[in-house]
Amino acid sequence: MKQIIVAIDGYSSCGKSTIAKQLAQYAGYRYIDTGAMYRAVALNAIRKGVMYSGKATDIEGILDFTHIDFAIQPDGTQHVTLNGEDVEKQIRTLEVGNAASQIAVIPEVRRFLVAQQQQMGKQGGIVMDGRDIGTVVFPQAELKLFLTASPEVRAERRYKELIEKGEQPVMADVLADVNDRDYRDTHRDESPLRQAEDAVVVDNSCMTREEQMQHIYRIFDERCK
Ligand code: C5P
Repeated sequence: MKQIIVAIDGYSSCGKSTIAKQLAQYAGYRYIDTGAMYRAVALNAIRKGVMYSGKATDIEGILDFTHIDFAIQPDGTQHVTLNGEDVEKQIRTLEVGNAASQIAVIPEVRRFLVAQQQQMGKQGGIVMDGRDIGTVVFPQAELKLFLTASPEVRAERRYKELIEKGEQPVMADVLADVNDRDYRDTHRDESPLRQAEDAVVVDNSCMTREEQMQHIYRIFDERCK
């Protein structure tokens, strides 16, 4: 069967990565979490003390020293690595997520990461999720999904995830963070989050995970024929 490119875009905390991982497993494809790549750049910027300088050139200056890759784990999942170090856990905090959406507005950062993403996916047989996959990274992707859910539903999901990780979030902060990130992602000049014209929209506010996956598998099977 044809090895297609599946581009999954959508708002933060829509369950994109869970869906993308499950679809990749179903299809026997490789999964690439592009958000993890933006987070890894942000983590490096925090570590190198340039994240909050307010100067884009400071962030651009660390790109040559920011080597990002994915290490496949024994259970088949992938962990992002930063200069060879597994940073999968360190990138999943609220602070790094926020920093990622700030550095994601810098054109040079986007060019740096988009080139690597295009290289990783060019052979097909890939599920890639992010904000600009169907519009910028792979506008020729055979299947584009655009995921959405209400900000309240997404904040609730994010809140639960953070509690499970042992953090002590405040619900109002999590909702404000979801709204801030939505605003930044949709209003930046460079590759703003938007739905590709040929994307299939999946609003999962009122779907169970199982219903949603069955719906997505059907769309995928249809597209591969
Ligand atoms: O998806 P995730 O929340 O891990 O992404 C972190 C941030 O990285 C997002 O809020 C978004 O600003 C940015 N991002 C992006 N383009 C992508 C993936 C993520 O701008 N393709």
